[in-house]
Amino acid sequence: MATNQRIDGKRLWDSLMAMAEIGATPKGGVKRLTLTEVDRQGRARFTEWCQAQGLKVRVDAIGNMFARREGRDPARPPVLMGSHLDSQPTGGKFDGALGVIAGLEVIRTLNDLGIETEAPIELVNWTDEEGSRFGHSLMGSGVWSGVYELEKAEALRDLDGVTVGEALDAIGARGPHPARPFPADAYFEMHIEQGPILEAEGKMIGVVTGAQAQVWYDAVITGQDSHAGTTPPANRRDALVAAARVITHVDATMRARGADGRGTVGQLTVLPNSRNVVPGEVRFSVEFRHPRTEEMEAIAASFPEEAAALVAETGCRLELTELFRIPHQPFDPSCVALVREAAARLGYKARDMVSGAGHDAVYAARRIPAAMIFTPCKDGLSHNEAESILPEEAEAGCQVLFEAILARANRRP
Ligand SMILES: [Zn+2]
Repeated sequence: MATNQRIDGKRLWDSLMAMAEIGATPKGGVKRLTLTEVDRQGRARFTEWCQAQGLKVRVDAIGNMFARREGRDPARPPVLMGSHLDSQPTGGKFDGALGVIAGLEVIRTLNDLGIETEAPIELVNWTDEEGSRFGHSLMGSGVWSGVYELEKAEALRDLDGVTVGEALDAIGARGPHPARPFPADAYFEMHIEQGPILEAEGKMIGVVTGAQAQVWYDAVITGQDSHAGTTPPANRRDALVAAARVITHVDATMRARGADGRGTVGQLTVLPNSRNVVPGEVRFSVEFRHPRTEEMEAIAASFPEEAAALVAETGCRLELTELFRIPHQPFDPSCVALVREAAARLGYKARDMVSGAGHDAVYAARRIPAAMIFTPCKDGLSHNEAESILPEEAEAGCQVLFEAILARANRRP
C-alpha cells in the first residue's frame, strides 16, 4: 500500500509549539511537572483539541487520559497510541509531547480524509512518565498495567510532602474510570530517541524492538557528623568520602560492560551540608541499565556487596534499597514489523534499535502488543531545555505512526 494519505507536518509542528507554550521556560524548554497547575493547563488544551475532533475523553483514577475515536466495529478492542505530556523540571519541548501530539495529528488526518477504521483508536496521555516529582517514573502506565498498586502510587509524596492523591485532586485530574488494563488491541508510541545514534548514522526512523533491562536503588550512607577542624583522619567517618567510592564503583561497573553499559548516580543529598562539618549522612540514587537481562542481573547480584565493602572500609554503613528491577522488555514482533514496513514503504532510512530510556510502552507491553517509533534529536540531547528536533523529523515519525495505526486498526481480526 503506497500511500498518498499524508499527515499535515505544519499542523503537527504548530500544535507542538502551542503545547510547548504551556510551562515554557526562558531558555526555550518546558517545565510541565506532573499534576501541577501547568500540567492541568496542558491536559485542558489536550482535551479541547481532542473534543474538537469529536473524540470522547475518558480519565482513569491515576489521571491517565484516553481519547476515543470510534471504529466501524465498536466491539473490537481499540488500538492505542500516545505518550506523556509531563516533563522534567528543565525539560525540552518534545520528550513525550511529540508522541501525544503526533497521535492527535493521526486522528486529525483520519478525520480530514474521512477514513473510518475497523477498530476504534484511542489516544493516550499517561500520567507522570518522568518520575521527577514523586520519584517513580512511568507511574500512570505502571498503575494501568498493574506493575504498581494504585494505593501505593497515590501515597507517594513530592519534596513538599504533597501526595499523588492530593495532587490529582488539586488539579481535578482524578477520573472515575478504574486504572487497570482494559481489552486493547495494541499500543504504539512515537518518541524522540533521546540518544545520538539515529543522528550519527543519518537515519530518520528508529524501529524499536524492545527496551533495556534496569535496576534502580536508593542508597543511604551513615557515618558521623564531626568538626572539620578538630577531627583527625583516624576519627573520621565521612559519609561523603564513602559515597565517592561507591559512585566511582558505579562508573567502573558500567565501563566494564563496554558501549552497552549504563550506570548513573544522578541525585545526591549531603547532610548536614555544612562546609565545616564532616558529612555524617549521604543519600543518593543508583541505577544500572543494559540491553541484556543477564548483564543487569549479574550487576544486581554483585553490586550491593561490593558497595557495602567499599563503604565499610571508611568506617561508615551502607543501606541499599532496591526500588525495582525490570528485565529487557521485547516489543511485539507483529507491531514492530508494521513500523519497519511503513518506514521502508515511505523511503525513510531506518534501523532497528533497543530503547535506552524507559517508556510507557515498556509497561503497556506487559499487557498488550506494543511497539515504538524513534526519531532523531539534535546531538542526542534530551531532559534538557535545549532539546531540539527538525519539523521534517516529526513529520516522518508521525507519517510512520499513521500508517502503522491504520494497518493495525484495519487488520482482519
Ligand atoms: Zn518521554
